Amino acid sequence: MTSNIIDGKKLSQSIREDIKKQIETRIAQGKSQPGLATILVGDDPASRTYVRNKLRACDAVGIRNISYELPQDTSQEELDALIKQLNNNPDVTGILLQLPLPKHLDEESLLAAIKLIKDVDGFNPINVGRIALRGIAPVFVPCTPAGILELLREYEAPIAGANAVVVGRSNIVGMPLALLLTKENATVTICHSKTKNLPEITRQADILIVAIGKPEFITADMVKPGAYVIDVGINSVDDSSRKSGYRLVGDVAFDEVAQVAKAITPVPGGVGPMTIAMLLKNTMRALELAEQ
Ligand code: NDP
Repeated sequence: MTSNIIDGKKLSQSIREDIKKQIETRIAQGKSQPGLATILVGDDPASRTYVRNKLRACDAVGIRNISYELPQDTSQEELDALIKQLNNNPDVTGILLQLPLPKHLDEESLLAAIKLIKDVDGFNPINVGRIALRGIAPVFVPCTPAGILELLREYEAPIAGANAVVVGRSNIVGMPLALLLTKENATVTICHSKTKNLPEITRQADILIVAIGKPEFITADMVKPGAYVIDVGINSVDDSSRKSGYRLVGDVAFDEVAQVAKAITPVPGGVGPMTIAMLLKNTMRALELAEQ
């Protein structure tokens, strides 16, 4: 194992322990616990696994949770009504609508229906707009970008003035992260599938963040020596040596990039656990907002 690992598992555990203590203290004081409602529509196996992991993490720290598992053919009206009902339920302090939704549903309007102070994923378009605006803070920082920023801070990566390259421009990772890094005074380049001469651009990065969903796509020759490398990708590849028949790899060729990077996140054990820790943190924040 290389020594320059950015250990998301370790940092996430200490955040989770801290939240657990906060909730125990609240219970001892007779105060209410936070409550998270998750909504899963359809039976995408990856989404099901993600929701299960989030609910387990809630259980472990004392966040009450209620899970809605709805059929694939759930209508827009039914989902809208459920969100409104949860918005009005004082025991539900946070609402998480697991994405992606089945194609027939209008994702944007459903995300917009989630009350801003319960939008623990930070995907309500108004919250996203606040991320983009200078001098205005979002109500919630979306979980994966928030986790990445915590990792960079914990490992003392200089962000202000750094050249940060974000590969991937999704609504949930790449784009909000690029905006947040800009707010932190990095000089940010966003790359995507139409970017020309990608290796030339990634080689300029002091901080390189990759969220594209392509196994081991970023190789050592694409990385500046001494860069901080954050690998968001989670890809399952065949591996006959494993009992399961597969293993998880990131978007970065870990072994070779670890040789040139100042520090690098592994997959698994890097960004993934931080995403869940940030969901728990956002759910605590939602409780504070509900009490204001
Ligand atoms: P999306 O599939 O929504 O977006 C992928 C992005 O990568 C797009 O912007 C796309 O460009 C870009 N892209 C695709 N191919 C290339 C390429 N060859 N060169 C440059 N850019 C490319 O991805 P997500 O952000 O949802 O997820 C990305 C990865 O991160 C996935 O593996 C996912 O599983 C993982 N993930 C991990 C999380 C965690 O907690 N660790 C949380 C969320 C996601 P274009 O816009 O032009 O199509």
